Amino acid sequence: MPAQTILVAEDEKDIRDLLAFNLKREGFAVLEAGDGNDALHLAGERRPDLILLDIMLPGLDGLSVCKALQREESTAGIPVIMLTARGEEVDRIVGLELGAADYVLKPFSVREVILRIRAVLRRGVSGGGGGHVLRCGGISLDVERHTALSGNIPLPLTMTEFRLLEDLLRHKGVARSREQLLDAVWGYSFEGYARTVDTHVRRLRGKLGPAAEYIETVRGLGYRAQERTRP
Ligand code: CA
Repeated sequence: MPAQTILVAEDEKDIRDLLAFNLKREGFAVLEAGDGNDALHLAGERRPDLILLDIMLPGLDGLSVCKALQREESTAGIPVIMLTARGEEVDRIVGLELGAADYVLKPFSVREVILRIRAVLRRGVSGGGGGHVLRCGGISLDVERHTALSGNIPLPLTMTEFRLLEDLLRHKGVARSREQLLDAVWGYSFEGYARTVDTHVRRLRGKLGPAAEYIETVRGLGYRAQERTRP
């Protein structure tokens, strides 16, 4: 199996070198970018398996890079882990709402970063099950090809929205709590961020259009994908 490639986007050379060195030692192939535009360019050109993206980057900052990656069909499926300094509370949340798979606070331990990377990559692979297509109402989700359709119309989902919809469809007819969804989509539940789930469900429903009716709110608990027969 070829090495998985990580793009490290960080302008501070010491940190970039430290990450690159350790990632290589862990068996990853590493691409490096020192500013936002380079990061975007490399992501599009080389399609890494994961991007470590610092928020404070010269040129295009990390949040703008993240948005741009999500907008582009060829890069929208690449998981992004944001690197952020303490105190950037707002940026942290915004980062997740932008569709980042996870974030790591600076200063970080290299060990922690690598654990997060492995967790995110595992999430990406484990769901597979070989060309599996999940359906509910008019929604169909091809997990392996990472495509989502409402009827025949492609849905421009971010990676987070895709994973959220995937989890709900895998448990069709079953109520999923916000904690279960956090755990399934982000890999762990972090206290106080349950409303992040609500934000993503709201956006997901917006993109689903009429098919949003298949995602029901379960009061006091969370959400459920449910086939309905229209009256
Ligand atoms: Ca930086």
